[in-house]
Amino acid sequence: MTTPDVRAFYTTLGIELPGWPKLEAPIRCFAQADAHHYNDRSPSCSVNLASGAWNCHGCGAHGGAYALYRALAVSSGALDPIRRPDLTNYGLVGFGRFSTPDAWLSTWSARSTNADFLRCAPGVTGPVLLVELTGDQASFPADTAAMSAAFSTRGPGRGDFTGARVAGTHFGGPIAQGQPTGSSLAAAEIGAWLAERYPVGAVTR
Ligand SMILES: [Zn+2]
Repeated sequence: MTTPDVRAFYTTLGIELPGWPKLEAPIRCFAQADAHHYNDRSPSCSVNLASGAWNCHGCGAHGGAYALYRALAVSSGALDPIRRPDLTNYGLVGFGRFSTPDAWLSTWSARSTNADFLRCAPGVTGPVLLVELTGDQASFPADTAAMSAAFSTRGPGRGDFTGARVAGTHFGGPIAQGQPTGSSLAAAEIGAWLAERYPVGAVTR
């Protein structure tokens, strides 16, 4: 976020940030007003104008922009504070971390997606490692073959393509009891592939 974005974001939620020349703008606590005397007349809370993160030095409530929705819902009585937060977006595969919900949902559209693999693959400019899970219940060998072929139509200088096959199921489980997981086998392939192209210690800053 930039400063204008942060201001606009808070304004949308009914919180007017004061004009303030420094990075941390003081504001009355909006998370737990009841926890302060005189409606927190001398502001205990501050908002970072660059990141949107907020922190109340009085009651200890704090969070980022995402947590602000929850804090406001609780303080307005719309949300029971005992409700456990949905941490999906903070997880490894959080749907909203790197794309908007609209963008994510559009990948599943049968009629209007812009994420068609075979159409987009030729536009990939970096090195590619395509790992096939041989026990995948949703993607089959013919699919992998078509995906591999799509990369072969990339332009000149984009020829670094590696295909790998490991035993595993759709979400990276073991293909049979007692077997290593598909995730661990895929990780080994990825590790070796990375080490070859980006040796540790060779990173320049
Ligand atoms: Zn507070």
